[in-house]
Amino acid sequence: MSISLGRAGTMARRTAESLFSVLFPSECRICGLPLLNISRLPVCPDCLSGIEPVSGKVCSICGERVLSAFAEGDVEGFRECPVCRRIERPFEQAVAYGSYDGGLRELIHLLKYNGVSPAASVLGRMLEEALIPLYPVFEQEKVLVIPVPLYKGKRRQRGFNQAELIARAARKASTLRDRFELAPNVLLRTRETHSQIGLTSHQRRENLRGAFAVARAAQVTGREVLLVDDVYTTGTTVSECSRVLRRAGAARVWVATVARTQKLASKYLGIQGFNVSKSQGFHAENELAEKLEARELETLKP
Ligand SMILES: [Zn+2]
Ligand SMILES: [Zn+2]
Repeated sequence: MSISLGRAGTMARRTAESLFSVLFPSECRICGLPLLNISRLPVCPDCLSGIEPVSGKVCSICGERVLSAFAEGDVEGFRECPVCRRIERPFEQAVAYGSYDGGLRELIHLLKYNGVSPAASVLGRMLEEALIPLYPVFEQEKVLVIPVPLYKGKRRQRGFNQAELIARAARKASTLRDRFELAPNVLLRTRETHSQIGLTSHQRRENLRGAFAVARAAQVTGREVLLVDDVYTTGTTVSECSRVLRRAGAARVWVATVARTQKLASKYLGIQGFNVSKSQGFHAENELAEKLEARELETLKP
C-alpha cells in the first residue's frame, strides 16, 4: 500500500515537473545551466551580459574590423577598410552592435530558427545602441525604417520576419522613436534566393540580382532610409537592397544590423599555426592583416 502511494506521488510530481518544464523551460538555451528565475526569454543573465558590443577599430563605412596600417584613420577618427577605399558602397554607413559569434549568434538563432520571439526585444535594444552614432543625422529628418524582407513563402513558413521584429523593438527602445517611421511593406523580395554560403562575391551578386523591388516608390522618394537586418555577413544583401532603394529615389540609405561577421577575425582563426604571441605581437599581426586584405581585394575583381 505504502509502495503504490509512493509511486503515485512520484508520478504526480513527474507530471507536474514536465508540465512546468514545458511552460517554463528550466535551462538556459545557450549554456544549458538551470534558470533560476522564470522569464519569457529562456536565457540566463550571465549569457546575456556576456554579449558585448564590437570593440577595436572598425571601418567607418562598412563596420569591418580594420587591423593593419589602415587602422590609423585621420584626425576625426575616420578610417576606411581597403575594400571601401576601392569601391563605392550604395549605403552611407553600416553599423552593427556585435560580432556574429558566441552568445549573440545563439540569441539570433533562437529568434530566427526556434521562434523564441522574446529574443527580439533584447536584440532590438542592441540594435538601438548601435544606432546612437547615427543619431545626429536622424535628428535632422524623419527616417523611413525598412526591414530587409523575406520572400513571402519563407515568411509564411517562419511566421514572422526577424528583421521586422528587431526593427520594431529598436524603435520602441529609442528616444528618437517619433522620428522613425516603420515601413515593412515598401521593399519586397520578389523571389526566393539561394543561400549565399560558399558563393564568390560575383556569384552572390548574381544570386540577388532582381530579387528585391520597391512596391511604393513615392514613399521612399527623397527620404532618409534606415535598412535593418539581423546579420551583416558579406554585405551583398544590404548592398542590393540599398541600390534598389536608391534607384527608387531614396536620398540616402543607412544600414543597421544586430551582428556582423568579422571576416578578418574569422580568417585569423582559420589559419593554422598562426599564433601571435604578445612579444612578436603587433608587427606579425599587421603583416597578416595586410595579406588577408589583399586577398579580399582579389575576390572583388570582376
Ligand atoms: Zn546561460
Ligand atoms: Zn569598409
